[in-house]
Amino acid sequence: MKDLAQQLQQRSQQQLYRSRLVVETPQGVHTHIDGKDYLAFCSNDYLGLANHPDIVDAFHKGLDEFGAGSGAAHLISGHSRAHHALEEELAAFLQRPRALLFSTGYMANLGVMSALLGRGDRVFADHTNHASLLDGARLSGARLLRYRHNDADDLETRLQNATDGELLVATDGVFSMDGDVAPLPQLADIASTHNAWLMVDDAHGLGVTGPYGGGTVAQAGLDLTQVPILMGTLGKAFGTFGAFVAGSEELIETLIQEARTYIYTTAPPAALACATRVALRLVQQDDWRREQLQQLVKRFRQGAGQLGLALCDSHTPIQPLITGTAAEALRLSQVLREQGILITAIRPPTVAAGQSRLRITFSAAHSEQQVDRLLAVLEGVMVSGQSSGCA
Ligand SMILES: *Cc1c(COP(=O)(O)O)cnc(C)c1O
Repeated sequence: MKDLAQQLQQRSQQQLYRSRLVVETPQGVHTHIDGKDYLAFCSNDYLGLANHPDIVDAFHKGLDEFGAGSGAAHLISGHSRAHHALEEELAAFLQRPRALLFSTGYMANLGVMSALLGRGDRVFADHTNHASLLDGARLSGARLLRYRHNDADDLETRLQNATDGELLVATDGVFSMDGDVAPLPQLADIASTHNAWLMVDDAHGLGVTGPYGGGTVAQAGLDLTQVPILMGTLGKAFGTFGAFVAGSEELIETLIQEARTYIYTTAPPAALACATRVALRLVQQDDWRREQLQQLVKRFRQGAGQLGLALCDSHTPIQPLITGTAAEALRLSQVLREQGILITAIRPPTVAAGQSRLRITFSAAHSEQQVDRLLAVLEGVMVSGQSSGCA
């Protein structure tokens, strides 16, 4: 047995120890922790829907109609009318023939890859992809090859050497830690030339970018043949919880038959699907939320530029300040906390060594005044040139 206490202590010495904040309020720009009020810039509730009264109300009504628990897996007796309707609405929203709900995005990524791939197959993954895409590739038994971040030429070179087996190219739509967008049209061309699946994980693009919030794939105007596997999550811009995969009839039926993270797990509560159906309507309707976000992002980037802080090439609500060492990211996060601003430090292995950062995120629920307050506090705690751009 290994010495866990020693291992934990070592982690702490490396400034990599992680601990949880205990939040006492609903998700929102104001967060109560230990009885203190913070202005938060670190949630993925991009559209400010996590505590929207219509969504909360739909959740309540769903509980009245369907009760608390789903009782069984989707393939036994847990698949409700509400789940089914949500799947149909998500498919229509994304202009795909079918959509399939998963309990989380993590499970969706593991499920897709392990259903489609096995030994002798290959996954080509962007170097900066979310951990769940890497874990999905590992679980499937396929070989995992990582190409340079957003480098379509590097992908092409690697694909040229792959002559047999199933090939799958996997990318985030919006990269979760850098906020930049994948070059989807080029990736789609290359994948199609090499007869490879293209799988886009649009956890951070859906609801935020594209017409009606259709995400990076809709923004790029790519259809089912160009992006055969579209994964989206419901716990971020949608403000609720869960995830889905959208694609062809045959893809979805294959996942129902073979995705173990779909088959061997209890269906999420039907009431959650009731809430998400209302969230989907708001995501599509409320263009003003996306416009507000764009305003806030623009204001922040201008202000941070004036302070001499280097930013990443991001026009999404994810605006990281790269501070280098884990210790420095932690220190800055702590200093900001003392000034009433909540931004958690992101450290390895979530990001590469030397790329620790303050991952600032905006929500449509923030005001311009709150962005100004953040900038004023940053001016007091950071010096010009202290952040570097994304690698
Ligand atoms: C959050 C996230 C996931 C996981 O989704 P969950 O529903 O939170 O499990 C997958 N991919 C990306 C890019 C994410 O940011």
